[in-house]
Amino acid sequence: MKKTILVTGGAGYIGSHVVKLLGQSNHYNIIVYDNLSTGNRESILSGELIEGDLADTHLLQKIFTSRKIDAVMHFAAFIEVGESVKNPIKYYNNNTCNALNLLKILTTHNTRNFIFSSTAAVYGAPENGIVTEQTPLSPINPYGQSKLFVEKILQDISAAGGINYIALRYFNVAGADIDGQLGQKYKNPTHLITRCLKCAKGEFDKLEIFGTDYNTPDGTCIRDYIHVNDLAKAHIIALDYLFEKKMSNIFNLGYGHGFSVKEVVDIAKKVTQKDFKVVETARREGDPPILLSDNSKIKKDLGWLPDYDDLEFIIKTAWEWEKKL
Ligand code: UDP
Repeated sequence: MKKTILVTGGAGYIGSHVVKLLGQSNHYNIIVYDNLSTGNRESILSGELIEGDLADTHLLQKIFTSRKIDAVMHFAAFIEVGESVKNPIKYYNNNTCNALNLLKILTTHNTRNFIFSSTAAVYGAPENGIVTEQTPLSPINPYGQSKLFVEKILQDISAAGGINYIALRYFNVAGADIDGQLGQKYKNPTHLITRCLKCAKGEFDKLEIFGTDYNTPDGTCIRDYIHVNDLAKAHIIALDYLFEKKMSNIFNLGYGHGFSVKEVVDIAKKVTQKDFKVVETARREGDPPILLSDNSKIKKDLGWLPDYDDLEFIIKTAWEWEKKL
């Protein structure tokens, strides 16, 4: 019998790529739960949509009462570091409190499997920039903290026997579906690659580099950019792991090497063949200088291997998508 998966935020950028893969596997009934605040109806390529807000506990109760949900994949969250610094309550409210409410509801309905979109931001600004899952957790912005609170809650619920969970700590997710069906569709994108592409398209007049005085070779921040299809694939493997092993676990999800902001800008110019304007500005609050994953654990325990570890290819897929918007 097919298992039923509730995917919160399944109409969003990452959620929609995972929903597509779930649909292709043909093993699952998919229910997308999304308020369409940043997601899009047309991005849901499989399953049914229930339009609703995470704060709507009555609607969530109704869903869990009326069907047997085997697992929840929880993507719905706010994701912007800069905004979280300016408006922390928004982040703690949605990312932490609403996640807790969801956990309360699902545990009372005996749903025992949970996949959580965590983030490399839980590590804060680690000393040498490269982190294993054992690296101390010390977020430097409310976004990372709001996700870390949920990880702690999950740990305790799991220890009490309530659920098994996998927390995937995403590094910098980028690119678009290699079949060209999905991609990022934000009104006001804040992420570096998307902003570069908006500049190349002429929608933004300049790309600002936030800080050139970091202790890195070219003075700009270094990040580990992972293609969204590789990231999505890890969720499917993680789901199988939960059903088979019935064990909780936490994994970094990145490629293990990185690029500086200046390197990303150069590759974006090369891919788009547009010499968009770039200006160097002050640091953005909440940014660690270097954040790179040690991904040996997910490779060893889940057998996950990337297919698209090539930043030029990643940006190409995003550019192909962006041109269609
Ligand atoms: N960044 C930048 N200009 C932009 C957007 C981002 O210089 O318009 C920098 C940002 O300060 C960080 C890196 O690019 O050092 C990646 O930021 P992004 O917002 O893409 O992801 P984050 O690492 O915050 O999750």
